[in-house]
Amino acid sequence: MDRRGFLGAGIAGAGLLSLGSVWSQASPNFGAPTLPDPGFRRMKVGAMEVIALNDGATRRPLDDEFVRNAPLEQVKALLASQNLPTDYVDIPYTPFLIVQGGTRILLDTGFADNGPPTTGRLRGLLAAAGYKPEDIQHVVISHFHPDHVNGLRARDGSAVFPNARVHVPAPEYAFWMDDARMNAAPPGLRGVFQLIRNRFGGVPADRLVQFEPGQDVLPGLQSMAAFGHTPGMSIFSAKSEGQTFTYVADVTNIPSLFARSPDWSVTFDMNPDQARQTRRRIFDMVVREKSVVGGFHFPFPAMGSLQQAGNGYQFTPITA
Ligand SMILES: [Zn+2]
Repeated sequence: MDRRGFLGAGIAGAGLLSLGSVWSQASPNFGAPTLPDPGFRRMKVGAMEVIALNDGATRRPLDDEFVRNAPLEQVKALLASQNLPTDYVDIPYTPFLIVQGGTRILLDTGFADNGPPTTGRLRGLLAAAGYKPEDIQHVVISHFHPDHVNGLRARDGSAVFPNARVHVPAPEYAFWMDDARMNAAPPGLRGVFQLIRNRFGGVPADRLVQFEPGQDVLPGLQSMAAFGHTPGMSIFSAKSEGQTFTYVADVTNIPSLFARSPDWSVTFDMNPDQARQTRRRIFDMVVREKSVVGGFHFPFPAMGSLQQAGNGYQFTPITA
């Protein structure tokens, strides 16, 4: 792992500040994001059921930090061309539940009660969809940014999914559990290391399973390396009866910007060059294989298809 690539120039620290305990400052002029109601959506993929569960969303004023390598005017123009607001962006957070027979697998966790007030809906939505946190046998984590792992442990210290095994990419675990890296990180990023360690502190060692990207995490659930956004980010493909659901995690942040213009870098990409290459590689694969695609920061219902569009990609959500 190239350490400078991931901690260089303070870039990662700056972007990650808003992922840690310091959330984007209140922006009263822009109001709160509208959350989908109901906040979950089921879809059949072969014999599987895939359920998108919208943990919430946050509204972030659009400044010239958000897209790191494009002029703000170009960013606003791309949003305007899609009839989207240009003063702010709404960033949704959507874990997915895969149900196949009696197996229930949650992909990423959202915030539980550790995040901003417009998040933390997962538990209620699971209940609305007919599941209790105790029913989840496997939690599979794409990467360790706080919006993905915060929901492992509630603010009172309790495990949110007490019966689950927690599966994590080995290189991601190695990076964030490395004391030397943590101590060398700028203060904002060090806070993220500490938050991550706290959330994993609630997972007993015998329930924490590391996998190598590329391996099957579980029967029928294959992982793939998607490094760049973080050092060990992995994505997952589930196949059933000739159909494929591919969860691309944070290969893109909101697709209205970073799928349409895949060479742009969101401030949270820790190694922007590697993330850019990964984005094209994974999206080309999804287009070629005609997978149903799910993304953590995709607009609700966060599942759909990807098409080639100009120099980038267009996300089309499912309608049914
Ligand atoms: Zn994320």
